[in-house]
Amino acid sequence: MGYLKFLGTAGARFVMIRQLRASGGIWFSAGGVNFLVDPGPGSLIRLLRSRPKLDPANLDFIFLSHKHLDHSCDINLMIEAMTNGGFDKRGRVFAPEDALSQDPVIFKYIHGYPEKIEAVSAGRSYGVDGVELHIPVRMHHSVETYGFRMRCKGLPEVAYLPDTAFFCGLAESYAGSDILIINTVMYERKAGVGHLSLPEAEDIIRSVRPAKAILTHFGMQMLKNRIWEKGEEISDRTGTDVVIAGDGMKVDLERG
Ligand SMILES: [Zn+2]
Repeated sequence: MGYLKFLGTAGARFVMIRQLRASGGIWFSAGGVNFLVDPGPGSLIRLLRSRPKLDPANLDFIFLSHKHLDHSCDINLMIEAMTNGGFDKRGRVFAPEDALSQDPVIFKYIHGYPEKIEAVSAGRSYGVDGVELHIPVRMHHSVETYGFRMRCKGLPEVAYLPDTAFFCGLAESYAGSDILIINTVMYERKAGVGHLSLPEAEDIIRSVRPAKAILTHFGMQMLKNRIWEKGEEISDRTGTDVVIAGDGMKVDLERG
């Protein structure tokens, strides 16, 4: 049994700053393990306002893809919430090394709260109670960035492809994923921005061929072009069920 809940679908600066979309990250529940991915601004509020309410004290770990604010702003707060204000030493945090050491986003005094804060790297897997996150490759982004492929017995494999420029081998490293979440910031291809565009996301979907692809993390042009109305045409073009994420959207995970 499992599900995903999108606590935010904002991507990049302006959609986040103006909160045109929320920016709370994604809650994963898989086989009794709960974890939060990329707690951006407002993550705690979005959790507490969810119906049914999501309790941060039930988190087993937090995964940070990279340190940019739209992903990391609430990470200290969420660690504090996961650990009952620091009184219960529990839970883990997985983050890139540069988010922990250079211009770190987790305060020093918070480091003693969780059971462990671990720097992740490509080609390795991280397991917590039957949930395994495999990190296939380092993303091409302005700071150290990783996605993952989540494996949990009895559930489809859910992969997260966070902020990155398109690069050779990206799609191949996600081959075989059942549900593929893609941070798709740009509406049109644009070189040098370190983010995927809709045409590039479609190329990745055609190559990976997941059972379902979920687009999220939208920039301004995605909203101006009313991306939420385009799921069906993108599904037709790619031959895959493509879902355009909305704030608060829940996706049940079932072995199909
Ligand atoms: Zn970023």
